[in-house]
Amino acid sequence: MARIPKELVDHIIQTADIVEVVGDFVQLKRKGQNLWAPCPFHNEKSPSFSVNPAKSLYKCFGCGKAGGVVQFVMDVEGTSYVEALKYLAKKYAIEVEEEEKTPQQQLEQNERDSQFIVSDFAKNHYHRLLLNSEEGMSIGYGYLKERGLNLSTIQTFELGYSLDSWDDLMKAAEKAGYDKKYLEKSGLIVTKTDDQGHDTGRRYDRFRGRVMFPIHNISGRVVGFGARTLKRDDKMAKYLNSPESDIYHKSDVLYGLFQARQAIRTEEVCYLVEGYLDVLSLHQGGIKNVVASSGTSLTEGQIRLIKRYSDNVTVLYDGDAAGIKASLRGTDLLLEGGLNVRVVLFPDGDDPDSYIRKVGDQRFADYIEKSSQDFITFKTTLVAREASNDPVKKAEAIRDVLHSIAKVPDAIKRQVFLQQTSATFGIDEQVLITEYNKLVKAPAAKPSGSYGSGNAGNYGNGAGSANTGYPPSSSSGQPRPAPAARPMSDEEEAEMLMYGGHEASVEVLGAGATFQPAKAAEQDEDLPDMLKVCEREVLRLLVLYAGREVEEEISVAAYLLGQLGETPLTHPLFAEMWEMCRQELLANRFPDARLLAQNERADIRHLITDLATERYEISPNWRTKEIYVFNEVDMPKLACDNAVLRLNKVHVQRELDICLDRLRHPLEDAEMFEILGDIKRLKELDNELGALLGTVVARGA
Ligand SMILES: [Zn+2]
Repeated sequence: MARIPKELVDHIIQTADIVEVVGDFVQLKRKGQNLWAPCPFHNEKSPSFSVNPAKSLYKCFGCGKAGGVVQFVMDVEGTSYVEALKYLAKKYAIEVEEEEKTPQQQLEQNERDSQFIVSDFAKNHYHRLLLNSEEGMSIGYGYLKERGLNLSTIQTFELGYSLDSWDDLMKAAEKAGYDKKYLEKSGLIVTKTDDQGHDTGRRYDRFRGRVMFPIHNISGRVVGFGARTLKRDDKMAKYLNSPESDIYHKSDVLYGLFQARQAIRTEEVCYLVEGYLDVLSLHQGGIKNVVASSGTSLTEGQIRLIKRYSDNVTVLYDGDAAGIKASLRGTDLLLEGGLNVRVVLFPDGDDPDSYIRKVGDQRFADYIEKSSQDFITFKTTLVAREASNDPVKKAEAIRDVLHSIAKVPDAIKRQVFLQQTSATFGIDEQVLITEYNKLVKAPAAKPSGSYGSGNAGNYGNGAGSANTGYPPSSSSGQPRPAPAARPMSDEEEAEMLMYGGHEASVEVLGAGATFQPAKAAEQDEDLPDMLKVCEREVLRLLVLYAGREVEEEISVAAYLLGQLGETPLTHPLFAEMWEMCRQELLANRFPDARLLAQNERADIRHLITDLATERYEISPNWRTKEIYVFNEVDMPKLACDNAVLRLNKVHVQRELDICLDRLRHPLEDAEMFEILGDIKRLKELDNELGALLGTVVARGA
């Protein structure tokens, strides 16, 4: 099934460094043996997403997403397994020679991949037209040159031009063998409908006679286009954008982020501008850490994207008053997202693009440096000036500023801002604090389970005011989704518990104890089948410790296979994994958890990831039972013996149950004696196994 040969797949997986790959998407910080970041898959402020480089796995303690490096790319990109491998191959410059595929075969891979592929085709087509066609050269390229953009910038951002024709793209795509369906799905062609809204069967290109700005996602794939017309026609929108599609979600994309992300990380600040041309001009002028929200108002998703790379944002406002007032709200959202926000205001009538072209790169950079100010200070000054002589307006303005202050996550900063505001408005600080506390208490308190607990607290006059107020952040619309499990406040604790392995010892329960994987407990309410639990444990040891020696010259894998034989497991997936491991051993290799966690099959990937990361939790019913703890890393033989004996014991107990059940039904005497004999034998076996388990546990204790 794989179109990439297995050896190459293994090579890609072994070359890919999970820290580097994940680091392209989030800002990882080392704590203990793992690295931590705010989760790229759910909204949060304090990091509960971790990467374990030694095991080459990631896991989020908030939303539960976990896996290896390939799974990460699949999750973050929403692509198929093969596409994720190709992404990694490209990153590590590994040549992937695939079988020749027709465009049609490529498209069949999956819906999203197909839309990526046609978008990529369109991008290349438009780019070629810009630089090679007469119309593209004279109109499109002419315009970009006039705006001061050079060829290198045009190439970096893959700018293009769409011919002034109804079907140029459609024809080109058809000729190359692509299905119209996907052009339509990604918004590149439009269906003409009649008055009743019925499909007329006619199709035409959406973008005609426009300069094309491809919009990339963070891994550099084109998801949509912005397009500017060069015609002077008042009826025509100057900018036209791709519609939302399976691959293009406007609220989760920032223009220029793909080209800016490394610079944002190294400069430790992200500049936020409004238009495509602002991004392009600044980038060309050497300010590469710049992105645009491309016209739409800023969304939480976009803020989360920025936060992956830096905690600092500087908003570059166009120098007109109306524009500034309109963007104040979006800027509040940045504060709420836990970012440190600064502001640069350009002289009236200038935007970042026009200003850099006017004053040049160096003076522009100096200007940003010199005139950036803290957002709250900026806002306070702005609204104070406007309301200076009107008491009613002034009260409103103060409340407005207090709202913003409440969104600052840092308590000390809030304190400083309150002092500053009191000075700017000439209002007694105590009065302001009283007002602030009223405001913070106003909205219904959020459930205490909501995270991001670093939010605004009340300010009181003395020690008595310890109650925590929540900021009126419900203005952001919906409450944050509650994660499946609350993230741990202390990452190190979580790390020790979840990844186990080297330092942590593993709890081994006394015979008969019920225990269950923490994750499964949330998902199915049925008590876990003891047999399944024990089979899983055997498989876990086999997969995680295969090559370790139980005694001289005998590996865990050989030992377990020797003890349990060919098909000891009843659960289908476990049995299949067992057989895979057995085949590896027969071929003189050990199963490798790092590779298995990257397997093409999702069920195998998930199982191995779970085995490598989960912690078993004791069911409350068994709290009183004795728990034996020993270190399986140091004592693999004991761990194996324990697991094998327990599995055998469960089998015996099941047989016992069957016998006992049969006794409840009417029986012939002979039959009954036979069953009683079986029961006696099974009970003896059970006791024997129990005694053996006892010695194993005693040795390990
Ligand atoms: Zn998460």
